[in-house]
Amino acid sequence: MTSHSVFSDLEPLLTQVQKPIQYVGGELNSTVKEWESADVRWALMYPDAYEVGLPNQGLMILYEVLNERTDTLAERTYAVWPDLAELMRKEQVPQFTVDGHRPVKDFDVLGVSFATELGYTNLLEALDLAQIPIDAAERTSEHPIVLAGGHAAFNPEPIANFIDAAALGDGEQVVGDVTDVVKAWKAAGGSDRGALLRRLAQIPGVYVPSLYDVEYGPDGAIASVTPRHSDVPDRVPKRTTMNLDDWPYPKQPLVPLAESVHERMSVEIFRGCTRGCRFCQAGMITRPVRERSITGIGEMVERGLNATGFEEVGLLSLSSADHSEIADITKGLADRYEDSKTSLSLPSTRVDAFNIDLANELSRNGRRSGLTFAPEGGSERIRKVINKMVSKEDLIRTVTTAYANGWRQVKLYFMCGLPTETDEDVLEIAEMAKEVITAGRAASGRNDIRCTVSIGGFVPKAHTPFQWASQASAQTIDERLAKLKAAITSDRNLGRSIGFRYHDGKPSEVEGLLSRGDRRVGAVIRAVWEAGGKFDGWSEHFSHERWVDAAASALAPYGVDLAWYTTRERGEDEILPWDHLDSGLDKQWLWDDWLDAIDETEVDDCRWIPCYDCGVCPGMGTDIQIGPTGKTLLPLTVVNNGGDQA
Ligand code: SF4
Repeated sequence: MTSHSVFSDLEPLLTQVQKPIQYVGGELNSTVKEWESADVRWALMYPDAYEVGLPNQGLMILYEVLNERTDTLAERTYAVWPDLAELMRKEQVPQFTVDGHRPVKDFDVLGVSFATELGYTNLLEALDLAQIPIDAAERTSEHPIVLAGGHAAFNPEPIANFIDAAALGDGEQVVGDVTDVVKAWKAAGGSDRGALLRRLAQIPGVYVPSLYDVEYGPDGAIASVTPRHSDVPDRVPKRTTMNLDDWPYPKQPLVPLAESVHERMSVEIFRGCTRGCRFCQAGMITRPVRERSITGIGEMVERGLNATGFEEVGLLSLSSADHSEIADITKGLADRYEDSKTSLSLPSTRVDAFNIDLANELSRNGRRSGLTFAPEGGSERIRKVINKMVSKEDLIRTVTTAYANGWRQVKLYFMCGLPTETDEDVLEIAEMAKEVITAGRAASGRNDIRCTVSIGGFVPKAHTPFQWASQASAQTIDERLAKLKAAITSDRNLGRSIGFRYHDGKPSEVEGLLSRGDRRVGAVIRAVWEAGGKFDGWSEHFSHERWVDAAASALAPYGVDLAWYTTRERGEDEILPWDHLDSGLDKQWLWDDWLDAIDETEVDDCRWIPCYDCGVCPGMGTDIQIGPTGKTLLPLTVVNNGGDQA
């Protein structure tokens, strides 16, 4: 099949929409290959606006990995804003890629990376705009395989009817396997879509929902999930990329044309986290910890800066200060870029791993970018429940260090609605913030320091010890946050130095429905989209009422409702919608950890204590990969490219 650019049809529409630049492509380091040069063609989608989607590391990595193959091409597509969507429908312009402006429906695979479940309605909108049937069952061999990935794909059941397959875990290798299978299928004629799906289901890490039957019991819970064929696995294991130094992607990071959420170069310094925070799905599903070496990090930073011209380097991971060689990495990079404008940042920093040396290295060369610490829970008790082992003293000491070293702004992130939480646990956030300001003023000798308290509603997630928990209702969260706000603002002296940012509990309720939903929730997503729902992660587009109405009507025939999915606590024996998807974590270990949470019992990080058998390493054939390597970051040697010798 050949494919033509739709740009000539699109261009006249761009003068009528906001931010047209996001649709034109041609970013530094983007790739447009000849259509005919490739056997397999991927459209990679981030189901949100360009400014959020472009910096996404996962998609950027896959874009490069796929385009490095000579037999494959990959282009990108993002969710189009409603203004352009309306014009595209009117003028019959289909969903397109920003690289070649080719119709998404012409590609062999549409890979969609879901960082959050609130992108599901954007998937339906994109499929509809692309003129691809929304129901996977209605697609033919003329249509792309719709493949979901990203963290939300660890429970893809709510979108099971809309996708053809989901890839679990790290994507670097599985995209190659999928490409090989699609290539072979096309070479054999490419006419039997069912045969292709069966073949995809045999790739480790690939789940094909249509090949499983789900039965429900009289209580509404799942009675069984059964593969339809003997060659389809009972449980689908996740994929894990080992030896990150062998995968130094992105090598040529994309530089956004339009303003984006992150205008910096990001280097993932390690993957996985075994701190064991019980609310954290990312930490649980990405085990074990695999560090990139100090040498590998240095090479990626240098190559990436040269390729992009960025002036900020973000050292990315779930908890960057936990890298076993973080002190050497930050010192080495600060030394190397001493006389340049390049600044360093650790976007995610645990309170207890931060120290004065690190603070100094980070601020030595460039701007003091904002510091965010995440104690997550307001009281010592609730921090034991969630296994976030940070004492108030640790926090005050760390934040005071930052203020004493010149930082004026610190952000503290918490969650509200955690299991077993009471009003008192949340009100302690106010006390903590006031103590931070008092100690910070004393340490810095200044009155103009600020602390922003930022709060999100807790959403129980699949594959975590809290997967059985009752989610706090939106009303409970709203009432607690109102009390907290009053407690902060009641102190006029300290309160004026404390900012307070929070979302009401309503989006969390919807996220809760989607994260622990089963296939029946697909009817809700569809009804919301049909009622005009999209961009649900954006407060100006999100309508709680639309979701509540859709849930009431779409779930009623099944005898379940919104509360059944959200505020209901699950029992040990209940079959959970994602039990047949294997993140490596042993279900019994998760259950025991849930009981430990209720008991306020903490568990340490297996990087520093012996393995406590969560199941991942033996189950997935993996192992922890951490330093120290004993290496240091060498200063760069200036290479003369043939010009005059000094
Ligand atoms: S299996 Fe053991 S070493 Fe591996 S992540 Fe789990 S607790 Fe840690």
